[in-house]
Amino acid sequence: MESKSHIDNDLSDSELLRYSRQIMLPQFGFEAQKKLLGSRVLLIGIGGLGSISSMYLVAAGVGHIVISDDDVVEITNLQRQIIYNTDEINQKKVQVAKNRLQKINPNIQISIFDQKLEGELLSQEVSLADIVIDGTDNYKSRFEINKQCVMSKTALVSAATIRFEGQLTVFNVTDNSPCYSCLYQDTMDESQTCAENGVLSAVPGVFGSLQAVEAIKFLAEVGNVLDGELLIVDNLMNEFRKIKLKKDMDCLVCGQK
Ligand SMILES: [Zn+2]
Repeated sequence: MESKSHIDNDLSDSELLRYSRQIMLPQFGFEAQKKLLGSRVLLIGIGGLGSISSMYLVAAGVGHIVISDDDVVEITNLQRQIIYNTDEINQKKVQVAKNRLQKINPNIQISIFDQKLEGELLSQEVSLADIVIDGTDNYKSRFEINKQCVMSKTALVSAATIRFEGQLTVFNVTDNSPCYSCLYQDTMDESQTCAENGVLSAVPGVFGSLQAVEAIKFLAEVGNVLDGELLIVDNLMNEFRKIKLKKDMDCLVCGQK
């Protein structure tokens, strides 16, 4: 006999149809879909990466997505942040994004913060999330988000793009996984941003999609997430490579002090 919790989690007919093309995958199936529907994702920053990852997460059936961003839509965003439309310039990104995402999938719970998540609020939202997706574009935020993820043992999908290049990894998957601070020093040069260096339109789309794929696999417990490895892609030359990452035992954030 099925347990009560199993019955409570059964998928409706419309859910079975909506998600049928991934439920039919032998590696995925009903159980993975139910896990996804029971998951909560925190997406920090909804720019080039986040506008893509959020649409796929909502379409795929992540049950609850929490999004924070304090920006408004600007004309320079539209070349790559394709969740926004031209007639939405000067509107709050999180509000515009919520409306769009809710149209893609009305059954998903979407919570928004029209502000930078910092301090207590950041700590609280990271703790509540099953996984965090970093969609920010500056080192200060990335270090702060990483610190909170390490403290609450929450996995962190990290990506960055610039010019024609991008990189991707998942930090804090297990106690033995490296964290962002194992890889980067807290003295990074803030001038390495899209605003300063430019980025080709579709490159954040590639990495936003990869962030969604990693988050979905992690939440649904299928396949292998990119734990302890960094994927580096040069889209100009079509060069893809992976390098091994090691936890730094002397890391000031996650190391044994
Ligand atoms: Zn570390």
